[in-house]
Amino acid sequence: MAVELLGAADYVDGVLGGDRTVLARLITLIESRRADHRVLAAEVLDRLVPHSGGAHRVGITGVPGVGKSTFIDQFGINLCEAGHRVAVLAVDPSSQRTGGSILGDKTRMARLAFHPEAFVRPSPAGATLGGVTRTTRETILVCEAAGFDVVLVETVGVGQSETIVAEMVDCFLVLMLAGAGDELQGIKKGVLEIADIIAVNKADGDNVTRAQRAAADYRHALHLTEPFSAAWSPPVLTCSGQDNVGLDELWAQIRLHRDKLGATGELGAKRQQQQVRWMWSMVEERVLDTMRASPQVRALSAACESEVRAGTVSATAAAHRLLEAAGINDD
Ligand code: GDP
Repeated sequence: MAVELLGAADYVDGVLGGDRTVLARLITLIESRRADHRVLAAEVLDRLVPHSGGAHRVGITGVPGVGKSTFIDQFGINLCEAGHRVAVLAVDPSSQRTGGSILGDKTRMARLAFHPEAFVRPSPAGATLGGVTRTTRETILVCEAAGFDVVLVETVGVGQSETIVAEMVDCFLVLMLAGAGDELQGIKKGVLEIADIIAVNKADGDNVTRAQRAAADYRHALHLTEPFSAAWSPPVLTCSGQDNVGLDELWAQIRLHRDKLGATGELGAKRQQQQVRWMWSMVEERVLDTMRASPQVRALSAACESEVRAGTVSATAAAHRLLEAAGINDD
């Protein structure tokens, strides 16, 4: 996609002034893979970082059909009406395969996308999960610099994307459905280990009792697991995004989570650890990219792969050869 560039100062001033067109253009720049765009984006980011950090960063996950878009649309509207400015971002591994995004789509959050206090940004199409991770993290920072005080990061409950999003937010909300076996599946998937808050959604109409029963089951299961924070045991709530029931209580819990972890210093430590881990994962990504692009490594890699496949060379020996070809000596 062609990106018409602004000067660094124009991006910085535009974003700090809350100009959403400039914000959108900066995110497009951040999403660009061109080296010169990356340099410019990095310069702009450096200047915006001191203005970032002020938002509630909330991750939201759940299987397709759990009601995420309906929930976020309503939740976001409620927050805007309470005086907040809400940005919605998406981490969507499916966009890698299909070239299109099923999350963060404006048509999925029809009311919020057109609210003057909200900003909805779909997952970049065609990017790798690593690429989406980098751009989403950077987009959180620029949205904060643009004055958004709530950033919702949506992801689907598949694969690695949940852990990746949990790594970039303060509070991770898992939406569940009441239904035969779902409770156990969620527990098996280890979702309880990364959830800060669990909400059984679609607790409306005939489903209220089942949702409450499912919530009780989760509470019981959580009771049996070791809480990973001394200051916080994940609460289990019921809600209905469609009927706007239980959403205020959820927001109250998100705030309570922030207050409690803020008071013990855990929140600050969590953000610091996330930054450090992010730094190393970027180093890893770049080192790998550089290695794979090296002509010496490329000349060897097909042979190494087929020898490893055939079992004539061990994976360790082949890795050693590739690293040596890239100038990295592990002796
Ligand atoms: P997503 O795939 O997780 O984003 O789910 P959607 O928000 O697209 O919702 C999937 C389906 O569930 C749609 O048919 C919605 O109308 C329905 N739905 C979403 N939220 C609720 C809810 O709170 N209660 C009920 N009964 N249905 C809902």
